[in-house]
Amino acid sequence: MITPPASTPLRPAVFLDRDGTINEDVGYLSELSHLTLYPWAIDAVRLLNRAGYLVVMVTNQGGIGRRMIRPEFVGELHAVIDQRLAAGGAHVDGWYFCPHHPEALVEELRAVCDCRKPATGMARDAARDLGIDLARSWVVGDKWIDVQLGQRIGGRGILVRTGWGVIEEGVRPEGQTVEAICDTLAGAVASILSADGGGPAAAAGQGR
Ligand SMILES: [Mg+2]
Ligand SMILES: [Zn+2]
Repeated sequence: MITPPASTPLRPAVFLDRDGTINEDVGYLSELSHLTLYPWAIDAVRLLNRAGYLVVMVTNQGGIGRRMIRPEFVGELHAVIDQRLAAGGAHVDGWYFCPHHPEALVEELRAVCDCRKPATGMARDAARDLGIDLARSWVVGDKWIDVQLGQRIGGRGILVRTGWGVIEEGVRPEGQTVEAICDTLAGAVASILSADGGGPAAAAGQGR
């Protein structure tokens, strides 16, 4: 287990869901030509970068185990998204995906794993790799499992109305709480910055 040096203070992260949150959810995204980033996605990520959050993508890709998505495709797609973000002055600090599914066709991926959201495996891996303070972190996504991940790590969750969000909003689980429900990731970022007083950079006196 890799532990960041003790002198490195832990930083809050904003964990982002991918499909339906930064790009259009087309079902099983398995071709680069089917990638459409939302028009606000790059600006939203750049705002989080500048505010001092680590930005970490956490995506369930059960389509790999279901043979709907080539295993290598995920890395190819994420490299393309990284390029588009970089062109807009934004970046993601870490990419994590879960290839498992309880009904996977690929035997070694057929599992009730500890990484498929709302399980916390991906967030815990990222916390270890990047030095994240989970209790000060957020999860933004278009499904309740994303909000639930935020709560399970001891942080906060925001539902966005893009992707499955509007449908999800209508089938809210009994007793489910949420920090905010926002039309898009741009609104979610505004909510986060507002709740956190401008974010960690501002709190450290580095804000612009
Ligand atoms: Mg999603
Ligand atoms: Zn998994």
